[in-house]
Amino acid sequence: SLINNCWNHCDSLSKLTLKGLSAEEEYPDLSQHNNHMAKVLTLDMYRRLRDRATPSGFTIDGVIQTGVDNPGHPFIMTVGCVAGDEETYEVFKELLDPVISDRHGGYKPTDKHKTDLNSNNLKGGDDLDPNYVLSSRVRTGRSIRGFCLPPHCSRGERRAVETLSIEALASLTGDLKGKYYALKNMTDAEQQQLIDDHFLFDKPVSPLLLASGMARDWPDARGIWHNDNKTFLVWVNEEDHLRVISMQKGGNMKEVFNRFCTGLTKIETLFKERGHAFMWNEHLGYVLTCPSNLGTGLRAGVHVKLPNMSKNAKFEEILKRLRLQKRGTGGVDTAAVGGVFDISNADRLGFSEVELVQMVVDGIKLLIEMEKRLEKGQSIDDLMPAQK
Ligand code: ADP
Ligand code: MG
Repeated sequence: SLINNCWNHCDSLSKLTLKGLSAEEEYPDLSQHNNHMAKVLTLDMYRRLRDRATPSGFTIDGVIQTGVDNPGHPFIMTVGCVAGDEETYEVFKELLDPVISDRHGGYKPTDKHKTDLNSNNLKGGDDLDPNYVLSSRVRTGRSIRGFCLPPHCSRGERRAVETLSIEALASLTGDLKGKYYALKNMTDAEQQQLIDDHFLFDKPVSPLLLASGMARDWPDARGIWHNDNKTFLVWVNEEDHLRVISMQKGGNMKEVFNRFCTGLTKIETLFKERGHAFMWNEHLGYVLTCPSNLGTGLRAGVHVKLPNMSKNAKFEEILKRLRLQKRGTGGVDTAAVGGVFDISNADRLGFSEVELVQMVVDGIKLLIEMEKRLEKGQSIDDLMPAQK
C-alpha cells in the first residue's frame, strides 16, 4: 500500500510539475562531475524517475541536488544524493541501488544487513596507546519513523522531532543524565567553544550540506543534548534527526563503545515508548539521510598522531587494506594539521557495529606499531597487512 500510495501521488505530481518541459530540457549538466550519483544517473533514468515522488512529495531533483551543485570533493568520493524520507530509497531505487552498491563495496539489492550492538563481542580496544591516540569516538545517526528527513522536512516537523527528542532524552539517568541546549539559546561564543572542543557540529558552511537543503531555517530546532561530562552526546536535526555520539580523551575505545551501545539502546527504547520507532529495514539497516551512512551509520574513529606514517608512500594503500579512511581533525572538510589525523572505519553497511569497531581497533594498533618503527628509522615492510 505504501507503493500504491506513491504511484497515486506521482500521477498528480507529474501533471502539476512537468510544465511541458522535456527531460532533456531539465537534465543537469554532469559532464564535469565525479561523484557516485553522477556516475550512475543517465538521461533515460532521469526521464523515468522524474515522474515519481514519495508520499511526502520528494522528487528526483531533491535527491540529486547536492550532487549537481558539488561536482567533487577534495578528500572523499561523495555519493552526490540524499534521501528526503524513508520511502526515497524504495521509490528511487533505480538510481539509489547502484549508488549504494558502488559506495558500499558491491552491496546488492538482495543483501541483508546485520546489527550487533553487544559491546562484549569486541576483542580488546581498551589499550590504544594514549601517547598517540588523543581521543576516541563512536557515532551513528538515527531517523525517527513518520517524519521527513532533514533535506525535506518542514519547520513544524523539525520542531516536533526536537520536542520529542527533548522529552525522550530527559528520561536518561545515572552517567547518562544530561541536558538539552538549543542552538538558538546559545551565545556565539558558547557555540564556538563547543565546536572547538569537538563536541558540536559545525555551522552549516559545507556546500554539501547547504545544497542538500538540510540547513534550511538554521538554527531553528537544532541543538545538542549531552551528559554532564560530555562523554555521551546527541545532535538534534543536523544531517540526521539524531546523531548519537560517545567520546572521551585517550585510547580506551572499549569504554567508548560500551557507553555507545548502552546509551543508544536506551534511547531507542525511550522513543519506542513514545510511539516512535527508528527507521530500519532488513536490507538497509538503519535508514539515514545520506546513502553513505546506511546500515550501521557507525563511524568509530580516533584522533591519532602519525607524523611519520602519514608521510610514508604506502600510507594510503595501508588505510585501504585496513578498510579505514582519514580526515582532518576539524571534520570532513578539513585537512590534517601537524600529522594528527581522524582515522575511522570506511564502511557502514554489510558489517555489524562490532565488526567495524574491531577493524578500527586492530587497524589503529598496527598503524601505531608502524609509526614507532618509522620513528626509529626501521622498515615497516614486514608489517604490511593483507587486504581486509
Ligand atoms: P561526523 O562523522 O560525526 O559528522 P565530522 O568529521 O563532521 O564527523 O566531525 C564532527 C566533529 O567531531 C568535529 O569537531 C571533529 O573534530 C569531531 N571528532 C570526530 N572524531 C573525533 C575523535 N576521534 N575525537 C575527538 N573529536 C572527534
Ligand atoms: Mg559531519
